[in-house]
Amino acid sequence: MTDLPESIQRREFDGRQRLATRGEPVYGEPTDGEWRLWDAGRSKLGAMVETGMDVDLTAVDSVLYLGAASGTTVSHVADFAGPTYAVEFAPRPTRDLLDVAAERPNLFPLLKDARKPETYAHVVESDLDLLVQDVATRGQASVAVDNARFLADDGQLCLAVKARSEDVTVDPETVFEDVREAVAAAYEIVDTRRLEPFHDDHLAVVARKR
Ligand code: SAM
Repeated sequence: MTDLPESIQRREFDGRQRLATRGEPVYGEPTDGEWRLWDAGRSKLGAMVETGMDVDLTAVDSVLYLGAASGTTVSHVADFAGPTYAVEFAPRPTRDLLDVAAERPNLFPLLKDARKPETYAHVVESDLDLLVQDVATRGQASVAVDNARFLADDGQLCLAVKARSEDVTVDPETVFEDVREAVAAAYEIVDTRRLEPFHDDHLAVVARKR
């Protein structure tokens, strides 16, 4: 079951209890005072929390987020965490991410390729508490393993794997089995779950660095 800090709450939106963080709105999400809806349908990390996976966000300070896109999810992360390094390799979404970061002094966008951690190792701290990965690219397990170097011992990984990004011709369950095996090279897997109905053909993996 997910453990949450006070800076992530369940609040009522549209007559239902939904996840919310406190910060400047980013993507037109509904707000209630300072609180902004964290939409699990638009966020794999949000879906991991919403579906009750074994994620512990209570003591998270420093974060590396891979595949930040225009900042939908990483903006929520920066609402509850400390220093948050956000890697994205496409210039267009990174421009939007810069606007999101302008409102959040703890959010640091990096226009970098997550498959080449050596290109940002001089900027990103080591001993991070949390690695969040949502890169729609082939070799998603290798990216998680190669970026484990930034995590503290026992640091946490929250990984979303999109089956179709690995191989459209292979059954998603076969892809997910290979990913679980590859991730286990650097992590101890704590929980895995598919993210339906929020995200089709995605596997979420929560793990601790070995
Ligand atoms: N995590 C985002 C969110 O919830 O707001 C959505 C991420 S989107 C599904 C995947 C992103 O990964 C895209 O923006 C894509 O450009 C980025 N990406 C794919 N391969 C990458 C790589 N090798 N390095 C960095 N970013 C990458």
